[in-house]
Amino acid sequence: MKNSTGNVPGLALIMVGQGRDSQTYVRKKLGACEEAGIQSKISTLPENCTEDQVLNALSCFHEDPSIHGILVQLPLPQHLDEGKILNSVHLEKDVDGFHPINMGNLAMWGREPLFLPCTPKGCIELLIRSGVEISGKKAVVIGRSNIVGLPMSLLLQRHHAIVSVVHAFTRNPEQITREADIVVAAAGVPNLVRGSWLKPGAVVLDVGTNPVKDPSCEYGHRLIGDVCYEEASRVASAITPVPGGVGPVTVAMLLLNTLESAKRAYNFT
Ligand code: NAD
Repeated sequence: MKNSTGNVPGLALIMVGQGRDSQTYVRKKLGACEEAGIQSKISTLPENCTEDQVLNALSCFHEDPSIHGILVQLPLPQHLDEGKILNSVHLEKDVDGFHPINMGNLAMWGREPLFLPCTPKGCIELLIRSGVEISGKKAVVIGRSNIVGLPMSLLLQRHHAIVSVVHAFTRNPEQITREADIVVAAAGVPNLVRGSWLKPGAVVLDVGTNPVKDPSCEYGHRLIGDVCYEEASRVASAITPVPGGVGPVTVAMLLLNTLESAKRAYNFT
């Protein structure tokens, strides 16, 4: 693309506050951009900034033709209206895929979202590249958030899986999960899914990234998933580890969405 058009894809990040986790994720995304030859820009705003300041940062990136994707690092501080801010990201630069129109198009047959949310897109990519058949298979998605669970269940349906959703109000999660050929765990509850929850041979995607105290680690904590890896890996036919599984693939999908956006902008195929 650089050789033919003289341009490279550009990604802009907006980070509010100095949350340690947000900083880590932003650093990883910036590092990945550099590695892939994607230009990145970052706007860092103070924790107590106003909504207008965030919207202004967004406007600057909307107007910047070298930027093809904009990402607002979540979570935002409580005093900011997350919905309003995410709705303000222009559809053509919504590489996170969280805009209601992108989400709505994902939910409707015959419509195509401009961008798929990165984590669910990464999960599907992992299944496809691992040769796991999705069509006609029973899938259970644990969690139904806008960011992961909901788009994951919609995307699995697009790939013709038979999808059940387990959430905080589900009475018999073990029983439902035990029927699944594919399990996507995205509840944010450490070690929620035990080996006994799984059908032998199930494929498990562990999206959860939960910090647990560990004084021997940098920052005094380490990350564990929603799945008890030790037990589940004895029952599953394939499983993603935490860390080092879905997380890096999510970042890769962000870069891919940015590249796709830049290709659209420069009419480059
Ligand atoms: P969230 O808190 O917004 O949503 C959690 C969902 O899980 C809710 O729908 C809730 O109903 C459900 N839930 C909560 N407790 C449950 C239980 N005991 N049983 C069944 N369902 C339950 O969280 P989120 O933003 O969707 O993130 C979920 C997890 O995924 C977190 O650990 C988060 O850090 C991680 N995450 C990882 C990536 C990645 O790239 N690996 C990306 C996004 C989120």
